[in-house]
Amino acid sequence: MDTPELEVHLNKIAHNAKFIKNLCDNNQIDVCIVTKGFCARMPIVKTIVNSGINFLADSRIQNIIKVKNQIPDIRYMLIRIPKISEAKDVIQYADISLQSQLEIIKVYSDIAVAKGKIHEIILMVDVGDLREGVMPENVLDTVEGILKMEGIRLIGVGTNVGCYGGVMPTVENSEALVKIKKDIEEYFDIELKYISGGSTCTTKLLLKGRLPKEINNLRIGEAVILGEDSTDGIFIDGLYQDAFILNAEVVELMTKPSVPIGEVGYDAFGCKPVFLDKGMRKRAILSIGRQDVRIEALTPLIKGAEILGASSDHLLLDITDCTEKIAPGSIVSFRCAYSAVLTLTTSPYVYKKYVE
Ligand SMILES: *Cc1c(COP(=O)(O)O)cnc(C)c1O
Repeated sequence: MDTPELEVHLNKIAHNAKFIKNLCDNNQIDVCIVTKGFCARMPIVKTIVNSGINFLADSRIQNIIKVKNQIPDIRYMLIRIPKISEAKDVIQYADISLQSQLEIIKVYSDIAVAKGKIHEIILMVDVGDLREGVMPENVLDTVEGILKMEGIRLIGVGTNVGCYGGVMPTVENSEALVKIKKDIEEYFDIELKYISGGSTCTTKLLLKGRLPKEINNLRIGEAVILGEDSTDGIFIDGLYQDAFILNAEVVELMTKPSVPIGEVGYDAFGCKPVFLDKGMRKRAILSIGRQDVRIEALTPLIKGAEILGASSDHLLLDITDCTEKIAPGSIVSFRCAYSAVLTLTTSPYVYKKYVE
């Protein structure tokens, strides 16, 4: 086995994708599955598409271009508010983009007109998380500006929560978005197709039957790949949580003191480590580090093991309390949460193994 290895269980991702698609279909929600969390790796994208999904979303135009070149008839939404410098690619490859800044939308309109195209956008509205989106009081002015642009078709409003400010989706902020959509429709006498209500963290309202019925698009990544809503730290019933397993290899196994010897300064990542004196401990060094993975998002699958920390290339595991036999060369497996999958799929040093 080449290590470190990220083992991806495609059958579990297929199950999760079908589950989320069914849930959304039953609630008249046109869901798009978000591929940014795994770098739009093609075997995973194909698994999701083969599960009956033809609407995807990503934050990176490079990922959208890559997938569109291989599966041209897929619909793709760009979900990071776009740069001026990528406008040509976005208009050519993305079917819809999320937008917020009038000056940028104007550039998109001009380029679309020059290409003889009309680009569809969803206007992002900030309902409190303070990442992207116009403030509610500025929505009508912004829409007025957008409606003057010939290369743009405004097809909806959207919001993002649970990311920067950690603001949770609620019935109140979802209803606020519904009201904004109705205000726009009345004021300008137009119809908007979509209210794009959020991401995985919004599914909890849906599961409880509390999401306003007017919300008819969600952009879901984490629930499909990990069966988890990390904003609440909950595993979603009926979904697999272990589609991504990391296998790393032991390169040193020794008993050492639990407190370093000598004066302690800052570590390689600008933090001052604190140590608890537990006496002599049995420690394994694994051949993987922070250059490959966000270690805080790993959970060891062997009982009693505890991650002590890591540097760029070495992960330290306390295995004193493990009953399992570990030796130099042993493989230790971990469950990966969102930011581990994000970093592991990005790292060129990590081997990927796809299991059907
Ligand atoms: C990442 C992202 C999503 C998907 O979030 P998940 O938590 O993975 O479901 C949805 N919308 C936007 C704007 C995003 O940036």
